[in-house]
Amino acid sequence: MALKVLALAGDGIGPEVVNAALRVLDVAAKSIGLRIDLTEDLLHGAAWEKYGTFIRPQTLALAHAADALLVGATGGPAWDHIVVDGGPQEQDGLMKLRHELDAFACIRHARSWDALLEQTPFRADRIRGADIVVMRELCGGAMFTQTRGIETQADGSRRAFDLNEYSNNEIERFARVGFEVARRRRGKVVSVDKANVFIAGKLWREVVEEIGKAEFPDVELKHYFADNASYQMCCQPTVFDVILADNLFGDLLSDQSAAIAGSLGMLPSASLPDLPQAGRVRGTAIYEPVHGSAPDIAGQGIANPIGTILSVAMMLRYSAGEVDCAAQIEAAVDAALNAGNATRDIGGELGSGAMTDAIIAQFRAL
Ligand code: NAD
Repeated sequence: MALKVLALAGDGIGPEVVNAALRVLDVAAKSIGLRIDLTEDLLHGAAWEKYGTFIRPQTLALAHAADALLVGATGGPAWDHIVVDGGPQEQDGLMKLRHELDAFACIRHARSWDALLEQTPFRADRIRGADIVVMRELCGGAMFTQTRGIETQADGSRRAFDLNEYSNNEIERFARVGFEVARRRRGKVVSVDKANVFIAGKLWREVVEEIGKAEFPDVELKHYFADNASYQMCCQPTVFDVILADNLFGDLLSDQSAAIAGSLGMLPSASLPDLPQAGRVRGTAIYEPVHGSAPDIAGQGIANPIGTILSVAMMLRYSAGEVDCAAQIEAAVDAALNAGNATRDIGGELGSGAMTDAIIAQFRAL
């Protein structure tokens, strides 16, 4: 089998972490006889500098033809102020890709690592064993709405708005992927909303409940208000398995979950256009670390590559169906950390390259 991969390193530390992850992908794929057909291209700021656009039509065509995208990060002070014609998806090459590929189901995985318990703001006994997937709806809600703007009122005051809207179809398809992910893990879902305040939250709760009862009766479902979910994630993170959240709450809760892992640099993600029951993804999925382009440390070779390396593990799991190989990469990361290897953000001194060497060595030894 061959996997068509398009690597889009993007901006800031993007190239550093993507190069590291591609090295791991090469070693892992060879170990199982999986051919990787790799293409690389520019995205967002890097594309703007060369072509004057955040993403070229050619890049979109390459993306549609690929099984999986490996993205580094996009953005930075040189481009964050640029406004181009069109909706929110036109303002960022990565948003455009998520929109075009309809990669609506974002899986963000945070777990505690025994070697990093002391690097977190939590007491070790509170977070040991925590392993949480925050599922973020990625193509709807206030972040993608076309109903947005700033209006000047008759009295000269200004009024700004971004409509938080969800249809039952958007919620249904997202809930299905979320329940399927839970079924493949520990079979527990907490759906998050503000049904006590927002009408969109009431529909969210109703639809998730319907899908759970009708199609996933074997998966345990609880509903939490988003503020309580955030609180409980601090107080008792080990009780969570899969959290279902809309675009905004998912953005917040997934960064919060990074505190359990010890650094934002540790978190991988997969953004899927579907996830059939017990099968691999049909269509193009996007794999990327949760962190941004970290302009403050870009170009220094000190970025933590683990979030991107774990994103490659997710790629093998969801797009190639190579579950054992994915688990081997995750075990290699764990073993490398347990052997005392660490980048600066997690209390060590290693650069991105040396951290990657340590993970590859552990992968080969397993
Ligand atoms: P950020 O995630 O880039 O950085 C936040 C902090 O975490 C910084 O101190 C940074 O040094 C650190 N950090 C992040 N990743 C790290 C890693 N792998 N290793 C070590 N330290 C790491 O967030 P920000 O500073 O708010 O945003 C910077 C730029 O990134 C902005 O232009 C923003 O729009 C963009 N951004 C992009 C994405 C994405 O591409 N998916 C996500 C978030 C932010």
